Amino acid sequence: MKTIKEVSEVFQKLGAPKFRVKQFLHAVFKEGKTDYHKIQVLPVELKQQLIEALPVLSIKPVLHIVSSKKNTEKALFEINGGQKVEAVLMRYKDGRNSICISSQAGCQMGCKFCATGTMKFGRNLTAEEIFDQVFYFHIHLLKQSESISNIVYMGMGEPFMNYDNVLESVRMLNHPDYLNLAARRITLSTSGIVDGIKKLTDEPLQVNLALSLHAPTQPMRESIMPVARRWKIDELLDSINAYTAKTHRRVSFEYVMLNGINDQPETAEELAKISNGKLTHINIIPYNSTDIAGITGSEKTNIIKFKNILQKNGISVTVRVTMGQDIAAACGQLANKNKQKQDERTK
Ligand code: SAH
Ligand code: SF4
Repeated sequence: MKTIKEVSEVFQKLGAPKFRVKQFLHAVFKEGKTDYHKIQVLPVELKQQLIEALPVLSIKPVLHIVSSKKNTEKALFEINGGQKVEAVLMRYKDGRNSICISSQAGCQMGCKFCATGTMKFGRNLTAEEIFDQVFYFHIHLLKQSESISNIVYMGMGEPFMNYDNVLESVRMLNHPDYLNLAARRITLSTSGIVDGIKKLTDEPLQVNLALSLHAPTQPMRESIMPVARRWKIDELLDSINAYTAKTHRRVSFEYVMLNGINDQPETAEELAKISNGKLTHINIIPYNSTDIAGITGSEKTNIIKFKNILQKNGISVTVRVTMGQDIAAACGQLANKNKQKQDERTK
């Protein structure tokens, strides 16, 4: 769906009165009618013009698979130009439905452990293409009388390398005539683009921020995340301090557990030291397997040890429950080529 401004312009060009825009948006978002023929409230002639002028969905769903436990669903979309992007629905036991969406086709950041980082970069998604991933699942859930609780920008891509379109998509999710999702239910995750963090600090939006920290020291961070060469850890943490001071919102530090790389007890102590006194929560992420050579996830016992050290130091910490591994829908598995082939075979 185009932005409200663009939609209004299309209606205006076709000579339709303003109230038709509201009627159209209500039929699509509240009644879930994505086929113009089913929108009775609009005149036939206008509908015919709109089919051409205003396609409802800008991305083409090409695959929708459900995990064996039925708690995760992955949708694959083809975008203009032929590239593919993915979005994932996670159904939690407490009834919450979370959607993980992509902001780019591929990613330029090249984190050593991430499957998306190893694929060729495609392009930035438009605000419409980002929004439509959520819109697709909104319609899917509406059919089952369910709704979306949260959105996380943790699929493919680095949201702050596509800042303007990402923020525009947030405003679309937020808009009362669109999905009316409160900004505080939306989380942007960044690998540490300080310019983006600074810009977000000044946005009049209550959106949440997650930082993919993954290492507490400069050399360790640099060894797994090339972005750390551009923005050093001290500058990064300063930008987080400025963000929390201004917004009073807690930032979550994502920490993926990589065997022998960032999972030692002394590393946990260092992580506790730099997190101490900050308005933060640490989210430990068990590594989801990929085909990347030399990278494996930490042993379960090491994950628990690591978490206990943080806790002992008074740091708020949780270990993320992993979902959707069997359909390659877990964090960092998107675009994992071999897994993808498996999915298609077992579909
Ligand atoms: N580019 C953004 C958002 C997408 S990545 C970012 O890096 O924050 C979402 C999260 O998944 C990041 O914290 C990322 O480090 C993590 N991740 C990447 N590969 C993973 C893997 N194989 N297993 C678990 N988490 C992974
Ligand atoms: Fe890009 Fe995030 Fe993957 Fe790094 S972890 S390569 S920033 S998607």
